[in-house]
Parts: sequence; C-alpha cells; structure tokens
Amino acid sequence: MDKEDVLYQHGTLALLVPGLFSGTLPVGELLKHGDYGIGSVEALDGELIVVDGKPYLAKSTGDVLEVSDDELVPFANVHYDRPTDKYDRENISQSDLEKEILANHDYHNLFFAVKITGTFKKMQTRAFIGQRPYPTLAQLADNQRTFEADNIDGTVVGYFTPELYQGIGSAGFHVHFLSDNHKFGGHILGFELAKGTVTLQTFTDLDLHLPTHDSTFRRHEFDYDGMDSAIRGAEG
Ligand SMILES: [Zn+2]
Repeated sequence: MDKEDVLYQHGTLALLVPGLFSGTLPVGELLKHGDYGIGSVEALDGELIVVDGKPYLAKSTGDVLEVSDDELVPFANVHYDRPTDKYDRENISQSDLEKEILANHDYHNLFFAVKITGTFKKMQTRAFIGQRPYPTLAQLADNQRTFEADNIDGTVVGYFTPELYQGIGSAGFHVHFLSDNHKFGGHILGFELAKGTVTLQTFTDLDLHLPTHDSTFRRHEFDYDGMDSAIRGAEG
C-alpha cells in the first residue's frame, strides 16, 4: 500500500448532525496525511479546502483566508494527489459531470477523490456562519451564505462516499472550490464547467481517525432517526 492509496479522515459527518462542532485535530496534524482535501473548522465557521499542501478557509463574509497550523478541525478529509484517471472536459454542469463519472467508471462502491482544474462559466458556493452555542447541523444550514462567480479559474476538490457509508461521510459527491487567485471559494452548490481537466483517484484504504480524547464525543448518545435526512439536507 502506498500513501496515495489512503483516504485520511478525521471525525465523521454523523457527529456534526447534533452539533458536535468542537475542533479536535490541529490543521498541522491533518496536513501530515495529505496535500489535497476538504473539511471544516471549529464551530463549522467556514469551509476548508486544501490545495497543493496549503489550507484555505472560505468564510461566510466572502473572504478566503490561509489557515494556520494550530486551527482545529472537527471534520476533514485529505489525501496525497496521484490520479488514477485523467481527462479533459468542456461545457458540462456539475450534476451531469457527476452522473457521467459514475456511468463511465464502476466506482460507486469505492471512496474516490475528484479534482477539476479549469475555467468555470458559473460557480455557486456556500459557507456556514459559525454560531455559539452550537446549533444542530440542520439549523446551521438554514443560515448559510451563498456566493456566485462567473468565468472563474480555479480548483474543485472533494470526494465520493458510497451510499453504504452514509454517516462516515456524506453519501455521494462532496466538493469544495478555491479560485486560482485564492479570493473565492466554499462548499459547492453547483457549477458549469467551461473547460478543464478532471482527475479521479480511487482509494484502497480509509484511515478513520476519531476524536477519542474529546469527552463530549465520548459521552454523546446519538439519535440515528433523521440522521440521513439531516446529512442530505445540509451536505448533499
Ligand atoms: Zn462541504
């Protein structure tokens, strides 16, 4: 097994559902496991994207900041970039591209990374607004900010989680965006790709790292009813 075969994950998406938003891993530690990835920070106060080894946070103010190594994350995925598939694609929407990827590859039971670099005719993103005390994920999602850009160059990074593992991640595609000038980004709600390069990377191993030292997580009694719809509503 090479390090590029491993998808590293800290936390699970399901623990965000009831509002366990405390940061439990420093970004500096996260970056020892990959150079591309996505996630969030404490209080879910912004959308994390790691591009070429550097972590950025898209805030609900519309600003994109570089993240320091001691910033804490409650949930994140990273991997080392080594594509297994690479091709050019023009003039396609996010939903059509995702359908095409699953139609052309028998990857629907695998964890895999998606990266798209290029020019986007339209890019629509959102960022959560951190609140204290922490609300539930559904309550937080009701109060997000959305952003739109036209004809923007940048990078899409994210993952596909098989339906079988809903709750570990968000089943289906979960992707974030960072513009080449590092001024626009966030969790992607939709895009129209004008012209770009699509890469996919399948993983043989999921390295699931849990916040075992966090007493709130250790003691929490999860309510599994409604978890699936809460994840789909906020992250789908
Ligand atoms: Zn996201």
